[in-house]
Amino acid sequence: MASSAATSSAAAIFGTTAASDSCSRRVFVTSTVQVRPLRGSPAFLRTSRAINTYASCNNSYVVNAALVMESSAKVIDGKATAKEIREEIATEISKIKESSGVVPGLAVILVGERKDSATYVRNKKKACESVGIKSYEVNLAEDSSEQEVLKHISCFNDDPAVNGILVQLPLPSHMNEQNILNAVCIEKDVDGFSPLNIGRLAMRDREPLFVPCTPKGCIELLHRYGVPIKGKRAVVIGRSNIVGMPAALLLQREDATVTVVHSRTRNPEEITREADIVITAVGQPNMVRGSWIKPGAVVIDVGINPVEDTNCSRGYRLVGDVCYEEARKIASAITPVPGGVGPMTIAMLLSNTLTAAKRAYNLE
Ligand code: NAP
Repeated sequence: MASSAATSSAAAIFGTTAASDSCSRRVFVTSTVQVRPLRGSPAFLRTSRAINTYASCNNSYVVNAALVMESSAKVIDGKATAKEIREEIATEISKIKESSGVVPGLAVILVGERKDSATYVRNKKKACESVGIKSYEVNLAEDSSEQEVLKHISCFNDDPAVNGILVQLPLPSHMNEQNILNAVCIEKDVDGFSPLNIGRLAMRDREPLFVPCTPKGCIELLHRYGVPIKGKRAVVIGRSNIVGMPAALLLQREDATVTVVHSRTRNPEEITREADIVITAVGQPNMVRGSWIKPGAVVIDVGINPVEDTNCSRGYRLVGDVCYEEARKIASAITPVPGGVGPMTIAMLLSNTLTAAKRAYNLE
């Protein structure tokens, strides 16, 4: 299966953090990180990471001294990983086509003229073509009625050539998002947003048919980079239905101990500093500073935030929720923005669509 962690060629990261408490003074000897290519060169690179001494002082941690032998975290390359996954999906689809003639299909419904949404839809269509998924597109005017959208969903629900249906969000404000998302039949809910899929995700011993693409991409990155999750402390910052909440549920299913931080959380910095794994989905540029990160933690930054930059031709650049330059000096591994979680979202959509087609034709 395309999302299998075992077939990865990404590097494995093994981190250890030793910590000791002595009165008010805490000493963390951070991590020996071994970076080992799983495929290709047998080279084994052993990197001693920072040895940092932290002192606890009036509830805030101050870096007292740092013996930094190698100060930069491993970059979790979402772009390369997504490419690898797309290639796996393309290979599988071509085999399916050859053996059964089945061509997976994805329908995308776009309402309105939002430029960002149009770009996302265009990218999804291109990605479908690149792996052999047939895409179907409906573009509706901003002032279309909810009934019109529901009519198209109903047609796609009944169309056997369509295995997955995606309604591009956000919808215009006069539409009821809940009514519309509920209308997508669960077997074609490749976005994983149906309450039935989310409910199953939240329950023990239940399996969702699909998991939302962005959080699925975060977990896939952790798997493919060999980051252990079981028994680890994880903090998810943000609790949206599409990213934060399902990311927290997924981590919990993988036996992490999960804390969710949101806009009303007191001491988010202190809570985040407890985490071995941090996933941020906030929408606030550079909110998470280096001081929020536990030495040796793994950081997955979902945020995509434009900030003004007159040096860029378009007048802005994209940054994450995490201050990358600070966090990379403390973390053992980190996703960049752009090039981290973003490309994984589309790869997971393709993976979900392939899964839907295989289920529909009993090819699993
Ligand atoms: P959202 O629906 O606006 O949710 C933001 C979450 O962050 C909320 O739960 C909010 O808490 C929390 N939050 C806001 N300010 C906070 C603060 N100061 N401290 C702690 N928590 C705070 O956003 P979203 O749709 O989840 O997206 C989040 C970010 O991810 C955005 O930058 C978005 O562009 C990006 N994104 C990227 C991808 C991708 O493919 N890479 C996909 C989707 C989204 P409350 O619940 O208390 O309001």
